[in-house]
Amino acid sequence: MKVTVLVGGVGGARFLLGVKAALQAARGDDHEITAVVNVGDDVWMHGLRICPDLDTCMYTLGGGIDTERGWGHAGETWTVKEELAAYGAEPSWFGLGDKDIATHLVRSRMLRAGYPLSQVTEALCDRWRPGVRLLPASDDRVETHVVIDNPERTEDGPPQIAIHFQEWWVRYQAKYPAHRFASVGAEEATVLPAAAEAIRDADVVLVAPSNPVVSIGTMIQIPGMPQALVGARGRIVGVSPIIDGAPLRGMADQCLSAIGVETSAEGVGRHYGARSTGGLLDGWLVHTGDSAEIDGAEVRAVPLLMSSPEVTADMVRAAFDLAGVTP
Ligand code: GDP
Ligand code: CA
Repeated sequence: MKVTVLVGGVGGARFLLGVKAALQAARGDDHEITAVVNVGDDVWMHGLRICPDLDTCMYTLGGGIDTERGWGHAGETWTVKEELAAYGAEPSWFGLGDKDIATHLVRSRMLRAGYPLSQVTEALCDRWRPGVRLLPASDDRVETHVVIDNPERTEDGPPQIAIHFQEWWVRYQAKYPAHRFASVGAEEATVLPAAAEAIRDADVVLVAPSNPVVSIGTMIQIPGMPQALVGARGRIVGVSPIIDGAPLRGMADQCLSAIGVETSAEGVGRHYGARSTGGLLDGWLVHTGDSAEIDGAEVRAVPLLMSSPEVTADMVRAAFDLAGVTP
């Protein structure tokens, strides 16, 4: 049984725990899970390449995540961050933990030596053993930037500026409304061939309840990705990150309103669209009590709160069922 999952960071990683639990319960080790992970949040800071979504997936599945925060290492310390701040070295608003820095150092050194991100990720996973093949959606730069009104506008300054997604999300907590998102590098990028292959070849493709705009949205625009999704031999089933008209933690609603999509399970499902009408989905899971009508896709309502891997495994089983596959 081959399962491929499109994921972002925290929501994606929690969902993957459930995919792993569901397949483990049904088939023991006889399964293959591939996660195609968003790289739109990736950024250089202090000379280090940081890949927030890949690291969140790797630490969560490898048992090293700080479960309170949802990102970064458990038992983290912040000495380097404090020392950088003492030098006035910017950016100072990014949570860069000491243990995390070791990951970024290994990654940055390998990238500078010429290894592609996919190989670097594989090397890092040698340590973490996530039990899921983690593939960056692309080895190329595909970086989300956000166009906002210039908060420090002077008379002859530009009325709008584009900032890196991390700055908008982490530094400003999305308080400046986004006019639009730009995917820097996307036009020249290509989907990672192994990711396209894993999508085409899977018995089922799942779309995690990740941010529909800056996690899933960024990935599915990468050249080569639409073709892989259209050509997927298995069904594609998505899970709504929006429950009762709101995202669970986070500010996905700020992203959705920027692209004119209603923050509802139906809004997101329609935005993804049915594969039979040129969109992404064959099936769409919404939370019990929510409803959605999507032309050409089957919709089912089941509990979608990922309170533990076991509970999440039930969601995954419902997705398998909707896709018509039995693990
Ligand atoms: P990020 O990259 O760390 O922001 O994480 P993702 O993009 O993978 O996931 C963020 C999304 O996960 C948010 O929009 C949340 O609405 C969604 N999410 C978080 N927890 C849950 C949950 O328990 N159930 C569902 N259905 N969605 C969730
Ligand atoms: Ca992310």
